Amino acid sequence: MKTEIDELRRYLQTITALEQAAFVLMWDQATYMPAAGGHARGAQLAAIKQEAHQRATSPALGRLLDTLDAAPGLDAENAAMVRVARRDYEIRRQVPAALVRRIARAHVASHMAWEAARAANDFAVATKALEKNLELSRAYAACFPGAAHVADPLIDISDPGQTVAQVGPMFEGLRKELVPLVRAVQAADAPRAVPRGRYPQADQIAFSRQVATAIGYDFGRGRLDLSTHPFTVAVSADDVRITTRVREDDFSECLFSTVHEAGHGIYEQGIDRAFAGTPVAEGASAGLHESQSRLWENLVARSRPFWEHFYPRLQATFPEPLAGLELDGFLRAINRVRPSLIRTDADEVTYNLHVMMRFDLELELLSGALAVRDLPEAWVARMEADLGVTPPDHNLGALQDLHWFDGHVGGAFQGYTLGNVYSAQLFEAACRAHPDIVPHMAQGRFDTLRGWLTANVHRFGRAKTAAQVIADATGGAPDSAPYVAYLKRKYGAMYGLPVA
Ligand code: ZN
Repeated sequence: MKTEIDELRRYLQTITALEQAAFVLMWDQATYMPAAGGHARGAQLAAIKQEAHQRATSPALGRLLDTLDAAPGLDAENAAMVRVARRDYEIRRQVPAALVRRIARAHVASHMAWEAARAANDFAVATKALEKNLELSRAYAACFPGAAHVADPLIDISDPGQTVAQVGPMFEGLRKELVPLVRAVQAADAPRAVPRGRYPQADQIAFSRQVATAIGYDFGRGRLDLSTHPFTVAVSADDVRITTRVREDDFSECLFSTVHEAGHGIYEQGIDRAFAGTPVAEGASAGLHESQSRLWENLVARSRPFWEHFYPRLQATFPEPLAGLELDGFLRAINRVRPSLIRTDADEVTYNLHVMMRFDLELELLSGALAVRDLPEAWVARMEADLGVTPPDHNLGALQDLHWFDGHVGGAFQGYTLGNVYSAQLFEAACRAHPDIVPHMAQGRFDTLRGWLTANVHRFGRAKTAAQVIADATGGAPDSAPYVAYLKRKYGAMYGLPVA
C-alpha cells in the first residue's frame, strides 16, 4: 500500500498546489492588483480552477481511492487523507459537469443582476436571476437523492454532516431566547457609542498587529494587509495571510476585523503539519472556522479581562479620543447592542437573528413555500418580528447580502451562527480545563487558551468533522445553551437586565 499512498499524496499535492496558486492570485486581486488587471486575472483563475477540477474528478483518482479504501493497516494520518479525498471525490463526481457549468454561468449572471438591482434599489431587477439560481440549487441538491431535506446537500458543502434536522431545532430554540433578550436590552438605557475622533491609520495597524501577535497569530508565517472586505487565505501551512480595513475616525473596525481574521489565521496555522499539502489541511467546516474567529473577536477581545490589559495601551495610543473614557464606559461602548438593518454591522446579541432569518428564508425558498418575488415582503415581516426594525428600501432589506446571488440559495448562512454556538461551548470547555485562562487574559497572556484550542481543535484540520471536534473537546453535541448563558450573563450584567 506504501506505493499507492505515496501516489495518492503526490496526486493530491498537485491539486492543492493549483488551488494554492489560485489563492495567491485572489489575495493579490483583493489587495494590490491594479483595477485594470481584473479581466486577465479572471481568465487566469478560471484556467487554474478548471485544471484543478479536472484532476479532482478524474477516473485515475477514483481508481487510486478504490485500491486504498479497502487497504488494511493505514495509520490514522493516511486513513484521514483517504477518507477526506474520497468524500471530496464523490461529491464532485455526483454533480454532472454540464450542471456545474450552468451553475457557474448563472452565478456570474446573478452577481451582475444583483449589482444592477442594488444600483436601482429595486429587488424586481434581480428576481429572474435569483429564480434561476434557486432552480439550479434545487438541481444540485437533486444530485444527492439520499438527502432527507432539499437543503441538506447545500448545507453539507460548507458544514459537512450538518442537516436541517439538526440545525433547524437548534436555531429555533436560540431564536426563542434571543428575541426577548433583544427586547429587554432595547428597553434599557442605551450606552454611548465608541467615541469618534482621530485614530491615525498607521497607529491602528501597529496596535492591531500587537494584539494579533499577543493572541498567537504568527507573523513569521503570515502577513496583514488592507482590503475592502477583510478575509483570511491559507496559501500554505507556512503562509496564512489576513487582511483588515481602517476607518480613521473609529478604531474598532480595524481592530476587531484584525482579531476576527487572526482567529481564522491561528486555526489554519495550527493544523498539524503532517497534513500539509493535502485536503485534510483545511478547517473542518465553515461553522468551526467561524467559531475560532468569533471566539477571539467576541469572547476574548470584547471582554473585560482582555481590556484590563489592553485598554491603558489603547488609551496611550489614541489619547485624544479616549483619555476621558473610563474602562466601564469603554466596555459598554464596544459591546453596544442596537437592533439594526444590516447583518454585517450587527452586534453580538442581534447578529444571529439576522443569520437565522436568512436560514429560514432559504428553506422556504427551496421548499417552494416562498416565491422569490415575495421575498422582500417576507424579509420585512421577519425583521419586524425578530428585531423590531423595518427596512425602508430593498438595499437595506433583501438585497443587502451577495450570498444568494453569487452562490447557491441554501447553505450559505448557517455557519455564522453555528460558529457563535461552538465558540461559547469551546471557550467554556477550555476554561474548565484551565481555570487560569481568564486571569491570564487580564495579564495579556493568551497562550494557555490558544494552546488548548490548537490541541483540541486546530491540529486536526479535516481529519475530524466539526461535530467530532465539538464532542471530543467539550464532551457534548453542538448545543446553544452555553452561548445563551454567555450572552445573558454578559449583557444582563452590562444592562442590568431582569432576564439574567
Ligand atoms: Zn469569519
